[in-house]
Amino acid sequence: MNIKNYINGEFVNPESNQWIDNYNPSNGEVYGQIPNSSKDDVEKAYQSAQSAFPSWSQTTLEERSRILIKISELLEANLDRFAEAESKDNGKPVSLAKIVDIPRAASNFRFFGNAITQFASESHESVGQNAVNYTLRQPIGVVGCISPWNLPLYLFTWKIAPAIAAGNCVVAKPSEVTPMTAYLLGDICNEAGLPKGVLNIVHGLGTTTGQAIVEHPSIKAISFTGGTATGAHIAKVAAPLFKKLSLELGGKNPNIIFADCDYDDMLNTTVRSSFANQGQICLCGSRIFVEETIYKKLKTDFVEKVKGLKVGHPSEKDTNIGALVSKPHLEKVKSYINIAKEEGATILCGGDEVTVEGFENGYYLQPTVIEVKTDDCRVNQEEIFGPVVTIMPFKTEDEVLEMANKVKYGLSATLWTNNLKRTMRMSNKLQAGIVWVNTWMLRDLRTPFGGVKDSGVGREGGFEALRFFTEGKNVCIKY
Ligand code: NAD
Repeated sequence: MNIKNYINGEFVNPESNQWIDNYNPSNGEVYGQIPNSSKDDVEKAYQSAQSAFPSWSQTTLEERSRILIKISELLEANLDRFAEAESKDNGKPVSLAKIVDIPRAASNFRFFGNAITQFASESHESVGQNAVNYTLRQPIGVVGCISPWNLPLYLFTWKIAPAIAAGNCVVAKPSEVTPMTAYLLGDICNEAGLPKGVLNIVHGLGTTTGQAIVEHPSIKAISFTGGTATGAHIAKVAAPLFKKLSLELGGKNPNIIFADCDYDDMLNTTVRSSFANQGQICLCGSRIFVEETIYKKLKTDFVEKVKGLKVGHPSEKDTNIGALVSKPHLEKVKSYINIAKEEGATILCGGDEVTVEGFENGYYLQPTVIEVKTDDCRVNQEEIFGPVVTIMPFKTEDEVLEMANKVKYGLSATLWTNNLKRTMRMSNKLQAGIVWVNTWMLRDLRTPFGGVKDSGVGREGGFEALRFFTEGKNVCIKY
């Protein structure tokens, strides 16, 4: 099946007439092609967005809200179709796409459809100066949204929904590795009555299509989620063009476990936070630190549970771990297992590819637990982004805090303890944009979302996202 670009409400072939193969990770087969859109295609998308902007930016908040909520309802009504498409494109279990990816994509539209009706700006009375200042929050114009492959529709819509809610028009590019649900979204937008040109979706490689979006002189804001190296490159290109930038990048998140935690809850959640979505969530707790007194017990219990996870075809109901997203990614993850061995770490379980009967060319890997001797090793410092976690003991709070913060990343951290004072102390000192205490991936869409250090710049979520997608203008009136 050939995917097309969605420009001005219509599905069109790329001007470039260049195509990229689209793989199904569960069987390694090519099942379609996607455009590798050129600068000209991006220009067409930009022109369409620019033409739609005057009218969309003046559309009432109630009307924008109504359309966004309609998109949300249509996504919910098409849950099964979208979940199956997401799974086929990405390799994730259909069951996961049904409870996480697609419902969350629908929530993104509903949430920002509601949020825009509550978004307010400030006013300041300049006492003693006979003046009043008020702030306008005006849409930027045409903005660019670029997203990765791990949570395809979930992260794509996390950008698009606030951008259009705030009155902008969008040129968006999903990952070339997982383009399918973004393609399907076009029809839903038309059915919901989103005016032509408000959202334009161009497909293609990062280095061609993505680069053309970032370089476009009139696309004045870029919201990007992806790898840290790509983020650094985008920042370099965008900075001299004075674009607003939101960068959500990689992570190497600590999962810190104290002996006084609720053990069973911690154990079950730690299996999830390690291996959900084949470990390909930027928020996964890929470095597990365990207080020495329970280390032996936890190590045994954790490994036993991990060995019980079923690696299988994404459509099977009892599959816990589906396929990794692509052959190159599988190879990258496997290379880190070899690095761990070279570094003298111990593979406690997993480490090998899995052959799933009938799908022998799929990209399956056992969930892998690596016991490391030191925090300095590469598998503990570099993002692997697969079903691989490390585990090691610690003695004191200070020691674990130092190890947790020693990486270049700072996206999220998870803390398991029932000690209130320790919770407060550590939450203050952990270098992360999000700290979860006695839970993981509990999301309230009103909260600021993003990372520190090499995990990114800026915050998404709630009013933070609406602020990013608007320019604040101060009006000062003297009376
Ligand atoms: P990636 O950086 O390779 O690609 C992300 C997107 O950027 C894709 O659409 C790609 O085509 C595009 N791109 C690549 N080069 C570009 C360029 N020169 N100009 C413009 N666009 C370009 O990342 P990926 O492999 O798709 O995703 C995995 C990474 O994403 C991991 O590092 C993960 O941690 C990160 N991630 C972060 C978050 C977060 O919220 N912080 C969420 C999910 C994933």
